[in-house]
Amino acid sequence: MPAPQPSARLAELPRYQPGRSSEAAMTEHGLTSAIKLASNESPFGPLPGVTEAVTAALAGINRYADHTASAVAERFAERVGVTRDRVAVGPGSAGLLEQLALAFVEPGERVVYPWPSFIAYPQFTRLAAGAEHTTPLVRNAFDVDALVDALDVRTRLVLIANPNNPTSTALRTADLRRVVDAVPENCLVVIDEAYREFVTGADVPDAIAEFADRPNVAVLRTLSKAYGLAGLRIGFMVADPAVVDAVNACAIPFGVNVAAQAAALAAFEQDDEVMCRCAVITSERSRVAQELRRLGLGVPDSQANFWWLAAGALAGDLAHELERRGVVTRPLSGGVRVTVGTPDENDRFVGALSELIEPRPDVVDGWGSSTGVAARRAADWLERLDDAMQRFRAHLDQPHPGRTAPVPGEDETWDASQVWAHVAEFGDFWLDQLATILGAGSVNDPVPFGRTRRDAGRIAAIEAGRHNDPAHHLDTVERSADRLAARLAGMTDEDWARTGRHETLGVMDLDAQLTHFHVGHYEEHAAQLDSIAGTS
Ligand code: PMP
Repeated sequence: MPAPQPSARLAELPRYQPGRSSEAAMTEHGLTSAIKLASNESPFGPLPGVTEAVTAALAGINRYADHTASAVAERFAERVGVTRDRVAVGPGSAGLLEQLALAFVEPGERVVYPWPSFIAYPQFTRLAAGAEHTTPLVRNAFDVDALVDALDVRTRLVLIANPNNPTSTALRTADLRRVVDAVPENCLVVIDEAYREFVTGADVPDAIAEFADRPNVAVLRTLSKAYGLAGLRIGFMVADPAVVDAVNACAIPFGVNVAAQAAALAAFEQDDEVMCRCAVITSERSRVAQELRRLGLGVPDSQANFWWLAAGALAGDLAHELERRGVVTRPLSGGVRVTVGTPDENDRFVGALSELIEPRPDVVDGWGSSTGVAARRAADWLERLDDAMQRFRAHLDQPHPGRTAPVPGEDETWDASQVWAHVAEFGDFWLDQLATILGAGSVNDPVPFGRTRRDAGRIAAIEAGRHNDPAHHLDTVERSADRLAARLAGMTDEDWARTGRHETLGVMDLDAQLTHFHVGHYEEHAAQLDSIAGTS
């Protein structure tokens, strides 16, 4: 007798594909060593004190765990500054995602998310018999216009991984706010912040602080990544108490086990160690990203603990070649995701990649980010931008007794507050113009843009933007510089071919624009602050 038929829903259900182990790769390729950079885990082992706490908890495993993990929920609520009734605890944030789908989606109702994103989203949508609706990515990042257009009255859930797995990019505050503001009534926005601890971008919002007080927003966090508890499964949701109640109604009894609860409480005591470990990961992340760009392989601005190699159709080939060299990565649709490892592991990955692109130059055909010279240009500009920002930061607590030299051709001199106000105003202004140029239909027709030194409103705008606290300006400057860095890292070869036509400076290629209006502009005014403070 054949086994009974499972639900028809399962016929189309994508099965979760875990990353391969290093042992499996060694066996298949006859290797003596291999490293696993395939599952976005922490490479550092459990946090201090966690193993001991779990060992102690094992003495009580003849009893069921606390069903709602109250002690852990209480501590988490305190840590993020919300009341206990706004927190649900689940078996990983993946467990909470499944509960959310079961709790909110009626058969045939829509679940909207950009794609590619976390591979469990389609699985849970279909498990709840929901209708998935995906929107494409642009430059490996979410297309907010497409996402907003996709929302309709049948949409019950919107799933936003921020940062996104697998492309590593993150929505900035204004864009995420646009999505949250656009959702129809009776639709829940789930902001999945599994990688929150790795975010360094000044303008990437903390969704709990920014949005979680809205009744139609749920924010997910996990201890699987930065807190090193992937093997024990514990995650959190912050949402309206009614959403928490609905999600808890779909929980497996005692789903968060005794060991996971004990481990979470111990891990919460290790915030300083977690910060140190994340600092190693994020500094390695930018070191290696720059090395990849210098190899001619552009990678997007990663805000997570992995890089995205946008290899297109050759993703499977690329992952296979890396694996033959002992580096296990995760091939996915459109690219290969590589987890940031220890410095030695990352060097092994870069070594393997540079070795294989020599005989396989075709690997960059169809690469979804800049390549060759364009990738190296991105690396140069990103480095200069980073230097300029460090110079601004160095001015925060310095006295600025003087004024600038007169602006060439005019007799204005500025004090430091005017310099800050000017830089703060212009960062976003130029970014909007850059967005127009990059969004134009044709690569070859120059797009008009501009605003000149003699603009009538300029001094008035600077005066209006004056602020006694330089930290206030620095915050604005850092946010627009963050958006510029994400743009630069995300550009394609086609983007680098675009030109703009300035009112007075004529047709300018992107390097000229970056020199005059973006990175060069920051450098120019950092130099002014240096001279006012007498440091150069
Ligand atoms: N969300 C995203 C975006 C993820 O990448 C992952 C892990 N791959 C998860 C959620 C699930 O994490 P966990 O269930 O281990 O908490």
